[in-house]
Amino acid sequence: MKSESRPIMQEHWIYLDYNASTPMDPEVVEVMRQCLAFQGHPSSAHPHGRQAAAAVEHSRELVATALGCEASEIIFCSGSTEASNQVIKGVAFHPEQQGRTLHFISSEVDHAATTAPLNFLKRLGHEVTFLPVDTTGRIDPQRLKEEIKENTILVTLIHGQNEVGTVQPLEEIGEICRESQVLFHVDASQSFGKVPFTVDSLKADFLNIAGHKIYGPKGVGALYVRQGRELEPLLHGGGHEAGLRSGTPAPQLIAGLGEACRLVTKLGSLSGQATEALWQALSQDLGDRVRRNGHPDYHLPNVLHVTFQGVNGRELLNLAHVSASTGAACHSAAVSPVLKAMGFSAEEAAGSVRLSCGRYTSVEDAQSAAKSLQQAFESLSREAAAK
Ligand SMILES: *Cc1c(COP(=O)(O)O)cnc(C)c1O
Repeated sequence: MKSESRPIMQEHWIYLDYNASTPMDPEVVEVMRQCLAFQGHPSSAHPHGRQAAAAVEHSRELVATALGCEASEIIFCSGSTEASNQVIKGVAFHPEQQGRTLHFISSEVDHAATTAPLNFLKRLGHEVTFLPVDTTGRIDPQRLKEEIKENTILVTLIHGQNEVGTVQPLEEIGEICRESQVLFHVDASQSFGKVPFTVDSLKADFLNIAGHKIYGPKGVGALYVRQGRELEPLLHGGGHEAGLRSGTPAPQLIAGLGEACRLVTKLGSLSGQATEALWQALSQDLGDRVRRNGHPDYHLPNVLHVTFQGVNGRELLNLAHVSASTGAACHSAAVSPVLKAMGFSAEEAAGSVRLSCGRYTSVEDAQSAAKSLQQAFESLSREAAAK
């Protein structure tokens, strides 16, 4: 029988949306394919169960190696949204904290997976400080230090910003948190595999990564919990994942995540070659009608966030046949809160696009995308001038 659903036409589109989600590496697909046939429950004490458990525990070793921690400090979960919720609510809901008003610190450029649970805690009566950023999207560590008070319990920050690509000074902030005896959580979904770090270089107590940002599957992630740090679980049940994440683990997803981490360890950080070629080509032709955003030095090597003067970013991408984002993939606010925090006007925000390259973006792809974007830009500019 012929399927009714047809794939969306995408042959002539160039994919520059790796920050929204990456394609899976073929080696990840192969490892997952092998695990799909497992029938045992990873907790069962027979050979079928042990086969599934072995895949999960092997993956835990691979994730731990990539993050520079012990396997016993890794908890598997459904992704970064769950991990951030687990840390933030897990701190607030801990029985020892009941009856206290707690203070949390984050930033105005953090992901909704962090800001939404924090806003929820605010509704329960807790206090939250969202630190402002400069025009490059960076937090000031000294400002953070001044915000720490007697009831501050957790600082939770994004490492590599998903939308504009700015990398935060988390080594310094980790140090401040440790001195002040405040817990420190890092959302490393975007920085992992792109810039070098370990859980110790950031002095993180908690840190999370997501499979689908690192050429692994969607629907799986890992949360690092430093030895001795306590969280109340979000999911109470059979006590899987050291009691922190009940529910039968998915060996095929976890094995895919482990393989993706093995490849990160093997290949090292991503090169910025394609991204730079893209910017070179764009800026050469369009001059000061395009502006590159974010920080010139502290930046993810794969992100080119550009403001195109006087055009609409969404129309530009559609006309150029470039699969990329205006704003983050995960929210649809009129003006992105991240760009707003960086001081963008509504018009600047409307003309801004996030082009994010990845492991499979060649310099030729980048140059070809730049050409399409230039042509589309000239065409939209002519239209606007004729109005
Ligand atoms: C994608 C992303 C998330 C959400 O991850 P999911 O695994 O899709 O829930 C959180 N934070 C950052 C920085 C991200 O890029």
